[in-house]
Amino acid sequence: MTATRVLVLNSGSSSVKYQLIDMADGSRPAAGIVEHIGERGGVADHAEALGVVADELAARGLGLDSPELAAVGHRVVHGGTRFTEPTLVDDAVLAAVEELVPLAPLHNPANITGIRVARALRPDLPQVAVFDTAFHSTVPEHAYRYAIDRETADAHQVRRYGFHGTSHAYVSRATAGLLGKDPAEVNVIVLHLGNGASASAVRGGRCVETSMGLTPLEGLVMGTRSGDVDPAVVFHLTRTGGMSVDDVDALLNKRSGLLGLCGDNDMREIGRRMAEGDESAQLAFDVYVHRLRKYVGAYTAVLGRVDAIAFTAGVGENSPAVREAATRGLEALGIELDGVRNAVRASSARLVSAKSSKVAVAVVPTDEEQEIARQTYALVTGR
Ligand code: ADP
Repeated sequence: MTATRVLVLNSGSSSVKYQLIDMADGSRPAAGIVEHIGERGGVADHAEALGVVADELAARGLGLDSPELAAVGHRVVHGGTRFTEPTLVDDAVLAAVEELVPLAPLHNPANITGIRVARALRPDLPQVAVFDTAFHSTVPEHAYRYAIDRETADAHQVRRYGFHGTSHAYVSRATAGLLGKDPAEVNVIVLHLGNGASASAVRGGRCVETSMGLTPLEGLVMGTRSGDVDPAVVFHLTRTGGMSVDDVDALLNKRSGLLGLCGDNDMREIGRRMAEGDESAQLAFDVYVHRLRKYVGAYTAVLGRVDAIAFTAGVGENSPAVREAATRGLEALGIELDGVRNAVRASSARLVSAKSSKVAVAVVPTDEEQEIARQTYALVTGR
């Protein structure tokens, strides 16, 4: 029997998501999530969560010992400067991912546990790490460097890395497909707007700029993260606001963004409140959309020629209001939305721009699992 299935594991800080994808026919025989890791009522830790995943698969006759399984593809958040491609995991790779923990203290440890447990369960099976940072490794130095003292920056690996790369890779390629073009021919601005949010500028299939930085805190306004702020905000709050560095870290990562501005981080709830005339919800929406528009303008300048803007993830795929407000009045940049198309709810990739728009505006559902499976399968089969 040929092994055509890839198990995709995404071990996050408090959950493990899995999908079994058959690369021969695109079917997904199993998918699930184990949540509330380390919380009351949940499983104790990631090792136990992975055990639950293995048991759920085995109970359906799809266990890790199945001969149809070709590999396990793991999402790994931080690949630093070393990992720019999907990578077959061995002890040295695992040690190198471990060394990157200081750059992603919330994420890499969970990813590493996922890899360790899967290796222990099926030592002979190829385990592939697919890094969230990898797609951004083509960003040129003048874009990834912060303008700070070079020696200090290099000594501490301080630079822009970018995240959500698997999604930006998938969506930029799918957008080219929607236009009936080869990815090498098109320039795309991808707006990944989920709970976390990031923008990227992709020229001919290669990422040349992205909004997240050393960590996923920089850039767009997010559900609970501030995105761009003057770094002096940190000095001010610690020196004169009586806050510790950890307090400010928690403030900017967990109590800022939409949540900090209006008390809600879900765009659906914000929309409901706006309809009732709620001023703080309206302000949160306006700040969110203003930031997006600034990035669309900046990335238009970075790319020079933009063929498409693609909206993706929870907000990007589902909020006509955000898409409308983010592109309103940008005819001078060649961007014109079609109000009717934009308002239609659908789950497939589609164009929402006017026929006369020079820049195509697209809604492209992201599929990080599919992308991880594709890259994993390509690596293990040499295709
Ligand atoms: P994550 O970053 O956690 O993967 P998602 O990409 O699933 O997040 O996006 C989650 C967010 O999408 C929610 O917090 C919510 O704000 C937004 N969202 C989901 N459905 C809708 C909708 N119908 N309208 C507006 N926003 C939505």
